[in-house]
Amino acid sequence: MPLVKSEYACPACKATTGQSSQIVANAGQLICSANPAHTWNDTQAFLALRPTMEFKVKMVTTPQEGYEPITVRIPIKLKAEFEQRYGNTLSQKVSELLNQLAEGETTVLSQVDVQKITERLGKKFDGGSELAGMIYAMSCELSDARQEAANARQEVQAYEGMGKTKVVIDLGDEYQRAVDNARNNSLPLKHYIQSSVQNALSQSWF
Ligand SMILES: [Zn+2]
Repeated sequence: MPLVKSEYACPACKATTGQSSQIVANAGQLICSANPAHTWNDTQAFLALRPTMEFKVKMVTTPQEGYEPITVRIPIKLKAEFEQRYGNTLSQKVSELLNQLAEGETTVLSQVDVQKITERLGKKFDGGSELAGMIYAMSCELSDARQEAANARQEVQAYEGMGKTKVVIDLGDEYQRAVDNARNNSLPLKHYIQSSVQNALSQSWF
């Protein structure tokens, strides 16, 4: 495996001599270019020493068939921010974005909008496809809920339109007794209640 230069300065040299020595990676090990005794097998252990990034690493780009570089003029500050944020993947990120822009109706969401949407959804999303999926699921739930509400409204309207002599009553704790009594009298519950109440009223039981 070839030596790969890293952006890091050796934290061990920093701590002892204050020197900036470049760290190179070789066969899974991180090695100080100035002192081979400064070697780490574990990237986490190395990063825990908070090494500073002091070296510019030139990206080795293999030219791909059918691809061409383009030059875009952007503010220096913006370029630095991009590099800080995306590092070696910057070129790939920009390329992906341009691809999407070329597709046509593409929208780029601002950080603020992403936050608003995340708050609303109650969940973070990773990319447009996931967002589209979540919105689809939500719209299905919404249309189900609307249908339920419409059904409930219709039921209420049906009850209200049943006629002036009809009322809907809640039997509360007596419900089970009514069910049992109806069964003992071989009557549907509704008919049993209706006749019981009519009977009671006509006999002036209340
Ligand atoms: Zn060192």
